Amino acid sequence: MTNVKSGIAASPGIAIGQAWVVKEVTLTFPTDLATDPDHEINRYHQAVAKAKEQIGQLRDKAAREMGEDKAAVFDAHLMVLEDPELTGGIEGKITAEKMQAENAVKDVIDQFVTIFENMDMEYMRERAADIRDVGTRLLYLLFGIEQRSLAEISEPSIVVAHDLTPSDTAQMDREKVLGFATNIGGRTSHSAIMARSLEIPAVIGLKTVLEEVAQGDMLIVDGTTGEVIIRPDEAQLQKYRAKRDALLAEKKELQKLVDEPSVTKDNVRVELAANIGSPEDAIAAKARGAEGIGLFRTEFLYMDRDDFPSEEEQFTAYKRVAETMGDAPVVIRTLDIGGDKELSYLELSQEMNPFLGVRAIRLCLERPDIFKTQLRAILRASAYGNIKMMYPMIATIEELRAANGILDEVKTELKNEGIAFNEAMEVGIMIEIPAAAVSADLFAEEVDFFSIGTNDLIQYTIAVDRMNEQLTRLYQPFHPSLLRLIKQVIDAAHAKGKWAGMCGEMAGDPLAIPLLLGLGLDEFSMSASSILPARKQLRHLKQADMKQMAEAALYKKTAQDVRFFVENEIKN
Ligand code: PEP
Ligand code: MG
Repeated sequence: MTNVKSGIAASPGIAIGQAWVVKEVTLTFPTDLATDPDHEINRYHQAVAKAKEQIGQLRDKAAREMGEDKAAVFDAHLMVLEDPELTGGIEGKITAEKMQAENAVKDVIDQFVTIFENMDMEYMRERAADIRDVGTRLLYLLFGIEQRSLAEISEPSIVVAHDLTPSDTAQMDREKVLGFATNIGGRTSHSAIMARSLEIPAVIGLKTVLEEVAQGDMLIVDGTTGEVIIRPDEAQLQKYRAKRDALLAEKKELQKLVDEPSVTKDNVRVELAANIGSPEDAIAAKARGAEGIGLFRTEFLYMDRDDFPSEEEQFTAYKRVAETMGDAPVVIRTLDIGGDKELSYLELSQEMNPFLGVRAIRLCLERPDIFKTQLRAILRASAYGNIKMMYPMIATIEELRAANGILDEVKTELKNEGIAFNEAMEVGIMIEIPAAAVSADLFAEEVDFFSIGTNDLIQYTIAVDRMNEQLTRLYQPFHPSLLRLIKQVIDAAHAKGKWAGMCGEMAGDPLAIPLLLGLGLDEFSMSASSILPARKQLRHLKQADMKQMAEAALYKKTAQDVRFFVENEIKN
């Protein structure tokens, strides 16, 4: 039997190390009554004391590494542990009903969770999650099971999990997480995108890796080929160590291009920009040769917290990015929440198809309070650098006009308050819905630029869920329909003297870059780690040749035909 598993290559690079397994455990509760209630009460108190100690440590670590605001959630957990009603309830169940500690804790925690989940105020409803979390901690202690959280990883490890949410990924300490491997997920799921921005090798969609790996097992994750090797033998270890070292050497070689311009062999200049999720990412992107930021996914500022970020907090974050990049352009995308990106403190209505539901600009137009705070922060930051702004998920001209209407209101407010901002800040839209791509010529009259979001554009054009690992074969960036839409968008922008960029994952794909260059794309925005390889590639391409090639590619009948054709053409 082979110890090599294949999944989806989500983030390139090779990681070799021990597994840190994030297991969901099923607890089997005792069926007998307590024979010694005092003993049970004692066990409960001991578990509470231990839980306090653990939470206190987590709190300190979170405050040190992520700031006081992120640490506050653990204060809430301590308050739950000390709650007299909760404690009284559990002790009552043990003494009056002769329950064992495990059952008493579960019963009372479940009751509290239900009460909080049914409260009117959203803030209170969210406390249910904290209570559940504390309950799980107590139960793990009573059952003698070790609690694992990504923030608790102490040694450099490879994280193995069923799935990782964006906030799990955000919690990861880059020093400690060498790589990760998960059962589910797709290449453009947000955890995969974050892995690429953190430059953590990752393979996802492995189906059963969690079941096959034990804590501490040796693992190799090859995020370039999508392979994971479980308990490798000496020969495999040697081979991959050599491969890892070669990759690191190549990276060093590429780094020499960091300050070189992005020009083709026939002297056509394009912009290679980075996709980022935080101000820190901008610093890393610049170090990897980014000539701008083509997409700042602002939703990450809203995640992993208890409430919306204030105008001031957002302003500080946007200003930091602008200042990091100096004169280079920074495209800030307004809040794109919904779909697979949720906020614990914002209740979204239950929808049959969240990806077709109230997400992104649709949500912002429904909640102008949230939207205006962000627009104020972006405008204020525009006084400190070369900031541009774009709206996600635009489908209709009415949405664009409504968003711009709110922007105008905010501008007037700022003017009245005497607050500085860049009056001429460019405003663009993402083209990620086929309706917008097909009518790009109409939109081009009302925007300053387009940024093509292929991650969603592919999903909506081919009607294929970008996160469904069973449908990856249908998730086809090279489908002729996509190439035609992209061409239409770029041509429409150019016809009106506007520029067109791309910030979907396709923009960093070495097979797509020659085609996109041929189609006339002005700005390519990608994971920071793809920028230098792209720069190297561009230096060997002639735009004139790529133009001819792209024209011909539009008439290939299948994605596979396009791929073979391009592979062949660029070889020569
Ligand atoms: C896209 O859809 O291509 C895009 C860049 O946005 P996101 O991946 O954040 O949905
Ligand atoms: Mg998108």
